[in-house]
Amino acid sequence: MDVVVLLGPPGSGKGTAAAVLAREPGFFHLSTGEALRGAIRENTARGRLILPFMEGGRLVPDALVAEIVEECLEQGPPGTIFLLDGFPRTLTQAEMLDAYLEKTGARVGCVCLLEVSFDTVAQRLLGRLTCPNCRTIYHQQRLAPRVAGICDGCGTPLEQRDDDTEATIRERMQVYREQTEPLVAYYAERGLLRRVDASEEIADTARALKAEVERLA
Ligand code: AMP
Repeated sequence: MDVVVLLGPPGSGKGTAAAVLAREPGFFHLSTGEALRGAIRENTARGRLILPFMEGGRLVPDALVAEIVEECLEQGPPGTIFLLDGFPRTLTQAEMLDAYLEKTGARVGCVCLLEVSFDTVAQRLLGRLTCPNCRTIYHQQRLAPRVAGICDGCGTPLEQRDDDTEATIRERMQVYREQTEPLVAYYAERGLLRRVDASEEIADTARALKAEVERLA
């Protein structure tokens, strides 16, 4: 099992680009944000614990997220490349991931940093729409559905994420700068960092990401 870590601020396109790549066999897309929202939707004990953190745009405690990630990694078929979207997000999480992978004989193959300006991501997040049924991500201008407000795939009315409001976006950016950005140096020091231009269209980002992943031995 190889792991590819997708790093980048909220709205850099990690989830959308990973979903494009994961349409191909051999890839498994693990979005911790999506797994956490799933727990909230299902109103599990874990979901109830998580809710106040996510509503405020703050990070969920490391141990809780690591538990979810380990459960998902354990279920992965052999030979799968895991696209980790949104994890790790703190140095502690990165160390937890390293310790877990060492135990299982797996490794972080590379870390792709999706680079884009903060102004651009704010615009993207404010226009983002998600299908509550099949989880497909759209954007009011960049990736518009064929019929406004309706999912192309399953016909469900699209929704805006609860944390895609101006105030919460500001908080999430701040959290990214303070807690997640130090991971850039952490992975650069280990020779794992690859920079991917995420300022253009989603298809361009997905193509650039695929090129990096294909370089894995
Ligand atoms: P995302 O869907 O990746 O934008 O994540 C949405 C929210 O889920 C974040 O603002 C956090 O509250 C929470 N979250 C997702 N991944 C993590 C993580 N690795 N560590 C802590 N909180 C997370």
